[in-house]
Amino acid sequence: MRLSWRVTMVAGIPIYLHSTFAVLVVFLLISGLSQGRGILGAISSVLFVLAIFATIVLHELGHALTARRFGIKTRDITLLPIGGLARLERMPDVPRQELWVALAGPAVNIVLAVICVLGYIAVTGDPPELTLDPAATNVVGRFAAVNIALVFFNLVPAFPMDGGRALRALMAERIDYLRATTIAARIGQGLALVFGLLGLFSNPWLVFIALFVWMGASSELSMVSMRGVFVGVPISRVMSRDFRSVSADDSLQEAVVCLLEDAQRDFPVVDAGRIVGILTRDRLVAALSDGDHARPVHDVMTIEFETVDVLERLDAALVQLQNAPSNVLPVLREGRLVGLLTLDSISDSFA
Ligand code: ZN
Repeated sequence: MRLSWRVTMVAGIPIYLHSTFAVLVVFLLISGLSQGRGILGAISSVLFVLAIFATIVLHELGHALTARRFGIKTRDITLLPIGGLARLERMPDVPRQELWVALAGPAVNIVLAVICVLGYIAVTGDPPELTLDPAATNVVGRFAAVNIALVFFNLVPAFPMDGGRALRALMAERIDYLRATTIAARIGQGLALVFGLLGLFSNPWLVFIALFVWMGASSELSMVSMRGVFVGVPISRVMSRDFRSVSADDSLQEAVVCLLEDAQRDFPVVDAGRIVGILTRDRLVAALSDGDHARPVHDVMTIEFETVDVLERLDAALVQLQNAPSNVLPVLREGRLVGLLTLDSISDSFA
């Protein structure tokens, strides 16, 4: 994801912090100070939020490490102010595996809450007071309560929450995957309506969550039904064969000619017959506006790209394309570049 800093690596999975996160921390510091809680109070509320985000990392790692047991890698985990996002390379095809992956996240929060409560009892002899009140002084009780709240929030049976995936997986064991997704999405949208109406009369946050749930349900549904259309379609039928590539040693001056003559936005960069990078329009335009038109393409191209083999399944390639760092997937046959897969090339061939 753009504008993210890589902060650490856990179990081989890079963890990114989105830059908007810094805004949240500054906001908490300022609002803590302005409420007259003093610098210590402000710092402690920042530390508490950081602890919550550490638990969100653990929650996402729960998903990622369970997926790994089923042979699915996780590209990265990004922390956004609204929560965490683990980008799995793909979702499991077996419903039972999807169920375990979905439940593993909330299970982490249950374990954390139990550890907090038991640890507190072991030290003080009494259970902590579980409260979400930010003014509460018992940090352990507050932390456990947040984890319990996260369990309930994540298990709401609506996409994009874990509960929505779990519900779909449970149904998909008995009925067709697309039908299961449709039903799960409808339930999610029904819940979103209820949240939205309740929120109008009580808490504006609920309206916000309702919107989020509604959009999550719709996008999951359209993605899955699209995938259904694409199952079994060969990549060679939807890739574009009529494309231009540029050479790594070409100057930007030469490359820009391709950009002007064609509708193509992103150009594969080829060196000695092999693809070595992608020259995106954005990068090309940015470099040209810096003025040095004689710079070679390999100076400007991105080397962060993925390729797809022409024999792969289109429904899998589509998921790869949606998560790819650039908007294009070069298609290879025996290592040789034979086509480009883009959303445009796909929609053109279905039009
Ligand atoms: Zn989750």
